[in-house]
Amino acid sequence: MTYFPTLDQIVGHDAVVADLKQAMANDHPGHAHLFFGPPGVGKWTVAAAFAQALFCRHKPTPGASGCGGCPACLKVAADNHGDLVRVVMGEGKTRIGVDQVRQLTAFFALTPMEAPWKVAIMDDAASMNEAAANALLKTLEEPPSRSLLILVTRQPGKLLPTIRSRCLKTRFSPLASAALQRILATLTTLDAATLQEVMAAGRGNVGRILAFSQGELLELRRKFYQEMAGLPTATLAQLFTLAEQWGTPEKFAHIVPLLKIWLQERLHGVVLQTDRGTMATRDSQEAWLKAIFWIEQLLRQAAEVNLNRRLVLEAVLIRLARLQGAGY
Ligand SMILES: [Zn+2]
Repeated sequence: MTYFPTLDQIVGHDAVVADLKQAMANDHPGHAHLFFGPPGVGKWTVAAAFAQALFCRHKPTPGASGCGGCPACLKVAADNHGDLVRVVMGEGKTRIGVDQVRQLTAFFALTPMEAPWKVAIMDDAASMNEAAANALLKTLEEPPSRSLLILVTRQPGKLLPTIRSRCLKTRFSPLASAALQRILATLTTLDAATLQEVMAAGRGNVGRILAFSQGELLELRRKFYQEMAGLPTATLAQLFTLAEQWGTPEKFAHIVPLLKIWLQERLHGVVLQTDRGTMATRDSQEAWLKAIFWIEQLLRQAAEVNLNRRLVLEAVLIRLARLQGAGY
């Protein structure tokens, strides 16, 4: 389902929306914005709604939201407005390259075709490589008139300080659970119990929650928690079967985030026990900490250098089973 709210329909970021409207009202929307905050809370969605509002032809006042229904608004929602480009990482790439920034610069150099502004939105801006970041800096130092760049990132600290300092910064906070529920109510038809379950599974990330609400992923999560609960009593052969099932590229991509959340939950549980304080639990906390550190490193390596997924999972499952008393 395509979710394309206008600025007025954005849920959970009232202060951000008010600031953006104010900037438009003064006809100084700025040349460069930096939208930063946790993943999946709506930075990209707000950026697109901001562009839509700038382009809308049916606004009662300059500071109003896009109407959502005029030709300009519809084009933005359908992603075919000639004065808006979205820069995203290429398929299979891990960085945004200098070619992409050069295309963006060329785009800004043209006069707007139909809107008063030309807008570019760059996702994962912190993943620009050095050459790309330096090329972008040049554009920011001498911004073409009527151009507006919105950089979106979850890691503003990884951007060049000289890029950061030239941007108007907008911090996005995690969505409150009431706001999340409102968004999900418009996007899904889940019953209350499933809604609670997908919200817990998605941990505030709307994209992840929506993925879980498709059902298949939710089923995988249920099965994952079941299997993890049975780990201490599972046989080695069962662990190997599990590692094989979860080791396919598609499953692995979902299992890794589930595993990370599961580990955090376990650690949290162990820390709470330690607070009540015996030596035994303190030892166990240290063992869990070591295991989690080791597993996170292994998962990172698996992503970076393409380790064999099945073998990685076997190693992880055996370590976790032993930690919980399995005798092998
Ligand atoms: Zn409109």
